[in-house]
This record gives sequence, structure tokens and C-alpha cells, in this order.
Amino acid sequence: MAVERTLTILKPDCVKKNLIGEVTKRIQESGFKIIAMKMTRLTKETAGGFYDVHRERPFFGELTDFMSSGASVPMILEKENAIADFRKLIGATNPAEADKGTIRADFADSLGENIVHGSDSVENGKIEAAYFFAESEVVANRS
Ligand code: ADP
Repeated sequence: MAVERTLTILKPDCVKKNLIGEVTKRIQESGFKIIAMKMTRLTKETAGGFYDVHRERPFFGELTDFMSSGASVPMILEKENAIADFRKLIGATNPAEADKGTIRADFADSLGENIVHGSDSVENGKIEAAYFFAESEVVANRS
């Protein structure tokens, strides 16, 4: 299996609930290597840029309000089969439909406020990683 990278965001609900440590622990114990990480606060505009694909959806305003409502923690994660394995670890978008024991099933309150983001493809993972991190901020690239 190929080593892949995925971009996650510990969303504002994760930060507000003091779950940064717990969620990061689960990510690391599942074999993901954190190769970039920062705390930031998105604006409504930068959140909109990240979720540009959803711009015409009815929940876009709610989504960008939520994503800019507080601090969040983007990270680039590396692992074999990272894209699929991370989606499995976090569970379905709607926590009510997420498998038992997944991060969203255990910690998320609603479809909108669902604790974490995970890239849905290798290609999108690259685009999303570049949205948050310069090459110089990716530790795996340093000697
Ligand atoms: P995922 O984050 O699992 O890849 P999507 O790309 O479909 O899911 O949606 C992006 C984010 O938009 C979701 O994680 C969720 O926070 C929000 N979202 C998706 N669908 C809805 C909805 N119907 N109502 C409110 N928020 C939504």
C-alpha cells in the first residue's frame, strides 16, 4: 500500500470542547504521523475558500460561520493508505450515522459540527494541505 498524506482539521467544536489532546491521541495511536500542525482561526472568507466546492449548497453559510467561530487545528498526516484509513477513523459525516467508536460518533453533536475534517482523495489532500501549509512548514521535507 502506498504512503499517502491527508489533511485534517480539528474543527472549532473540537477545540472548544477541549478535545485537541484526546482526538490527537486517537490519530497518533492509529498510526498516523503528524508532519505539519498549527493553530489558526479561519475567517468566513478563508473558510469559504476551503469549502469552495460547497458554495452553492444551502448549508454553506452555516458551515463558514461555524468554521470561523473559533480556533481550529489543521494538520497534515502521513501513513500508508492514509485517505481511506482516516475517513474510517473519523466515521460518517453525520455523527448519527457514524460507526460506533469513531471520532465523530464519540464526540460530534451534529452534521454541521462534526469535530474533524478529513480529505476525501489523495489529490484533494494535496490541495487542502497547500491551503494551510507552506512547504517549509512540513517537517517531513526537512533534513
Ligand atoms: P466530510 O467533511 O465528511 O467530507 P462533506 O464534504 O460532505 O463531508 O461536507 C463538508 C462539511 O460540511 C461537513 O463535514 C459538515 O461540517 C458540513 N455539512 C455537510 N452537509 C451538511 C448539512 N446538510 N448541513 C450542515 N452542514 C453540513
